[in-house]
Amino acid sequence: MRRTRQRIALLALPALVGSMLVATGPAGADPTGPSATAGQSRVDDPDAVRLVHIRLTGADMLDTVTAAGFDLEHGLRRVPTGIEGEAVVTAEQLTALKGMGVEVLADDAGFAWADEADGGLGPAGARAVQPQSHEATVRVVRADWFTTKGQGFLYVEARTTEGQQAEPIVGMQLENDSGKGTPFGFSRTMSRFVDSGQYMFHRNLFKLDTRPDKIRVTSSTGGVATGAVSNWLEDAPPPLTANPSYKSDFVDGYRHPQQLYSRAKEIARQYPDIAEIVYLPNQTNGYQRKAQAQIGGTGQAAVVVTSAAWGHEGGNDITVDVVDRPGANLPLAVEVEGKAVRVLLAKDAAGAPASTATEVAEALRTRSQGLIDRAHPYRTNEGTGIVAPTAGPVALTDFLDQKRVGAPAGEVPRGPVTIPVLRIGKHRDGKKPGVLIQAQDHAREWVPATTSLESAERLVHNYRSDRETKKIVENTDVFFILSNNPDGANYSFYNFASQRRNMTNHCPDANADPGRRNSWGVDLNRNYRVGSGHDGYAGASTSCVSDTYQGPAELSEPESKNIIWLVEKYSNIKFMMSVHSNGGQLFWQPGAYIADGRITTPRPPLGDEAFYWQSAARILSQVKAHRETVVTPENVGGSSDVLYSSAGNVREDLYHTYGIYAFGWEVGGSVYNPATGDWQGGSFQPEWVGNPDLVSGHAETMEYANGIMEMFRVAADWGKDKKDPTSQLVPGAGRYSKPVDVRFETSEPATVYYTTDGSRPTLDSPRYAATEFREPGQVFHVTETTTFHWFSVDSAGNIERNYDPTKNDRRNNYRTATIKIVKR
Ligand SMILES: [Zn+2]
Repeated sequence: MRRTRQRIALLALPALVGSMLVATGPAGADPTGPSATAGQSRVDDPDAVRLVHIRLTGADMLDTVTAAGFDLEHGLRRVPTGIEGEAVVTAEQLTALKGMGVEVLADDAGFAWADEADGGLGPAGARAVQPQSHEATVRVVRADWFTTKGQGFLYVEARTTEGQQAEPIVGMQLENDSGKGTPFGFSRTMSRFVDSGQYMFHRNLFKLDTRPDKIRVTSSTGGVATGAVSNWLEDAPPPLTANPSYKSDFVDGYRHPQQLYSRAKEIARQYPDIAEIVYLPNQTNGYQRKAQAQIGGTGQAAVVVTSAAWGHEGGNDITVDVVDRPGANLPLAVEVEGKAVRVLLAKDAAGAPASTATEVAEALRTRSQGLIDRAHPYRTNEGTGIVAPTAGPVALTDFLDQKRVGAPAGEVPRGPVTIPVLRIGKHRDGKKPGVLIQAQDHAREWVPATTSLESAERLVHNYRSDRETKKIVENTDVFFILSNNPDGANYSFYNFASQRRNMTNHCPDANADPGRRNSWGVDLNRNYRVGSGHDGYAGASTSCVSDTYQGPAELSEPESKNIIWLVEKYSNIKFMMSVHSNGGQLFWQPGAYIADGRITTPRPPLGDEAFYWQSAARILSQVKAHRETVVTPENVGGSSDVLYSSAGNVREDLYHTYGIYAFGWEVGGSVYNPATGDWQGGSFQPEWVGNPDLVSGHAETMEYANGIMEMFRVAADWGKDKKDPTSQLVPGAGRYSKPVDVRFETSEPATVYYTTDGSRPTLDSPRYAATEFREPGQVFHVTETTTFHWFSVDSAGNIERNYDPTKNDRRNNYRTATIKIVKR
């Protein structure tokens, strides 16, 4: 199958592109804006960013590259030969990337995927098929059929138990039939997926015009497995929007944080019976910067100067003038008059200036009457050069005053922000299941915010008129954080479109000069406590200028502290969606691993895993109902299983610490374009209207809001689920004349706890597990007479037969079955 990702419209708002790409001064500055103050040394910014398409060999290289500070987070895709994606880089960074072995596929231009995603293994027939049978070595993990925009697709995952084998690599061939009773054919080579040195499985996605009934997978060592084809998102119920009187389409453009928050507060005022505002306790560190200047270029004589006060609180009024006065044998001196600082350079016996950068920096720090509290040589320089006089006073600036062309109108408030949470629910008494929708942890992701706002609007506008909405509002307790990174979002809207992190600068002097200002901040979705980079998990950086910087400590940032506060205060929150863009993915746990050995955070038990899949299918079916956008099954599951490890993400913490079903959503991914036969990639900031059939901020907002509404229905159903699950051992109790294979089946997503030693089962008993991840439950090969005791627990906590595993339940009404093997 051929897939082409068109030029990624990361900077797609045309007006914004202009200010981004032609910037020759500090990146993000408006070159047409007020010119630099006379005498100010230009901050040499070789850092005009551009977008490149790259390929990495795998997760190890991804770790290396992210640890080195590169911005590769979103839009990454697994391909047979590794990981492909895009990076926002400077020319210097591009060179560094290449130095790390990264292959550059296209530099600011379109690129094509390989024609055949075949991993280069060649046909199975080319390999010697071993004579002995290997039937048991191959398993079909999943085989999914879906259609989008008139085109059918088949997606298959299969495993060979010999997959880890290096020499020779075991290949897999896939065949399908063309409907019930038709023969297998159309042999294709499957792609081998290896991550962090570990074989995962083989997989393929390809176009098919006819829905197959069965598939067959054959390994190059002779293993064979067949599997039935399932439907993926093919049987979607009508969305809420199908009701002709249903009101939707409330959001008509991108919204910066001030607009989001003011609308949230207005909703609470307009609908006081069902809505209120909860204020998060920790203020952000603020959309604000210290004022800075860089004097004397970038050499040994350069001095980086930073104000003690925030720019908007007086820092921007400071000037520094470096003066060469007449005379000889004069000491270095500093004069301060109001906000004007004059550095009088020392003179040697011959009357030449004699102050080094280190000396000038020290003088500014200690003798500027508190105006300047940080001054140092440039980056890693030792500051041994003799400072030259400036042409006049150099004005310090926080660089926040250059509004980008095309940015929303209105004053941008500076300083710390209190984030309002819009809480919607008829019964906000802690008894209904809470759902936390957290949007825009990553500043440049604008569509998650509009998607969340649209969802809130739909709830309040349809509550009185639409039965399904009324049921949601009466049976859930929803918490919307419409932007969890307001400071970074403002920076993205007004200064630097590609800003991902918050605005906190944790950098030491070597990275504290203004040329680095677009590289400061903490990745809020790497700042949590479970599977954290601080504990050795992969996919977060210790570098303060990395786009996945994890912060100086777990929960160092107010934005992440707030989330923990919220779920601890409102312990009825049982569902969470962290809304991101633009990968077209739906994730849960595990989302992080330790690279050495690929040790993941604990896998959810089978019941939770099944519940996640069931919920995902419901949510994504509603997305599809809008305009046939399909999030493919290869992009659904534990994020570290299908994409990469992201250490310290919020989902791991909320699931493992609080038992919250915590989803991660990448809205706005690839869309199939029937006109070209290709999948077209998304963008962080697609044009709002764009192409309504392809990449469009508006269309993505509407379709993914459908999905959020379905998540509310999942939560409402969960809250009402009082029905105990049932389960059985298949085949059941009985006499068998030879060893028998048995497994558990449950009536709904549920986890089975069992014993085989005659003891009563408890929550500490072994859990019935998947054969391997993404596969169904394991099969027990019973060779001796064995008695199973067990019970099952569903996702809502209901226990089969109301058994109480925690006490010595004298009814002992757990389930029992004896498999009697009668030897002849
Ligand atoms: Zn994100």
